[in-house]
Amino acid sequence: MAGAVTTSETQLRHDIVEVGRRLYARGYVASNDGNISVRLEGGRLLTTPKSVSKGFMAPEMMCITDMEGKKLAGDRSPSSELLMHLEVYRSRPDVNAVVHAHPPLATAFAVAGIPLDRAVLAEVITTLGSIPIADYATPSTHELPDAVRKYIKVHDGVLLANHGALTIGTDLFSAYYKMETVEHFAKISLVARLLGGERLLAQHEVKRLASLRGMYGIASPGGICIDDAGTAGAADEASCQAVRAPESPDERLVPEDRAEALMMSARSARPGDDTEIRLTYRQLTALIEEAVRSLQ
Ligand SMILES: [Zn+2]
Repeated sequence: MAGAVTTSETQLRHDIVEVGRRLYARGYVASNDGNISVRLEGGRLLTTPKSVSKGFMAPEMMCITDMEGKKLAGDRSPSSELLMHLEVYRSRPDVNAVVHAHPPLATAFAVAGIPLDRAVLAEVITTLGSIPIADYATPSTHELPDAVRKYIKVHDGVLLANHGALTIGTDLFSAYYKMETVEHFAKISLVARLLGGERLLAQHEVKRLASLRGMYGIASPGGICIDDAGTAGAADEASCQAVRAPESPDERLVPEDRAEALMMSARSARPGDDTEIRLTYRQLTALIEEAVRSLQ
């Protein structure tokens, strides 16, 4: 619960500076992007000021606000994106810290409209489950908290369409480490797709990993539900952490038999043979359409 904040305000000011430094050093923010907040005792928040690079903050720069975002102390004003943080604290009494950044690869998935929801890495399944995309909303308006509200009840990490990412935790560093996990997952997913596609973990393995959460004491706001690979939308991302996993292991984005058929056809195509080339092109188009459908 919210009352569990025991770290001193002085320490938390230093911790925000350190988290900001890491976000900047890892290239998760450019210019003055991003914002960080943490609960203080007495229904208050300590948060980063607007118009400051997160890589070069000092402890005394932070603002203290109430839970409506009204400034109570500090020389500077809080970020306009604090509205999104306030929504998280309202929805999640178990959460004590919020980190928002624009890590480039996770943000690229958010821009492409591709959620990070495939069963690929054990540590992602156990910690975050899936990372859905909240609808696009104009930054600093009330649209953004509205878009985030739908997912934040059961997710600790959310992509923000055409914007960035949001991670939350019981303390500042757990919220920050989830941001690292989201960006790491995005990087591995992108490269795996460039290399021909991820081999997904099978449903029974996802269920096994989900059951390990209890054993390792990983607190999660929502359970994992299985979404059959290729049938996006079958599971409700707003009520559970929908992870896409096939029934059998080794299922790929482009099934092996289709890829094999394409290779065979390409090998048999002779230069100048229009019929063969048209057939190959049609097959290629079908494969691309299938891949795009799977990605959506
Ligand atoms: Zn932002």
